[in-house]
Amino acid sequence: MAGEPQDDCLFCKIVAGSIPATIVRETETTVAFRDINPQAPTHVLVIPKEHHRDAAALAAAAPQLAADVLRETQAVADEDKLESYRVVFNTGSGAGQTVWHAHAHVLGGRGLEWPPG
Ligand code: 5GP
Ligand code: ZN
Repeated sequence: MAGEPQDDCLFCKIVAGSIPATIVRETETTVAFRDINPQAPTHVLVIPKEHHRDAAALAAAAPQLAADVLRETQAVADEDKLESYRVVFNTGSGAGQTVWHAHAHVLGGRGLEWPPG
């Protein structure tokens, strides 16, 4: 069911603390942790504690929680003193989504070309 923890979900396990992660920030509703395979000096994932399969499902089912995730992307940028940064929600396997628990990538600390590859 939407929002319920999933036994086979890596990010639900990080929320539960059963898989370790380098946590940057935690709020009542979100967790932010460093990506295990960073693509930039700052590469942090911000996730809702609730399980939703992607950002679109999150926004549809729990818009306030989607707003919490967005607010936390700014807090992560502040934490790492980033003036410029990029927030990415890969949605669907064709766009590179590999973990089916909604997450925002916060990337910064180097030049970020636009348009991206
Ligand atoms: P996606 O490809 O779904 O947009 O992003 C998933 C991200 O999760 C990838 O950037 C990947 O490096 C990261 N990731 C996968 N497994 C782990 C893990 O066990 N710990 C952490 N911290 N990040 C992970
Ligand atoms: Zn999950």
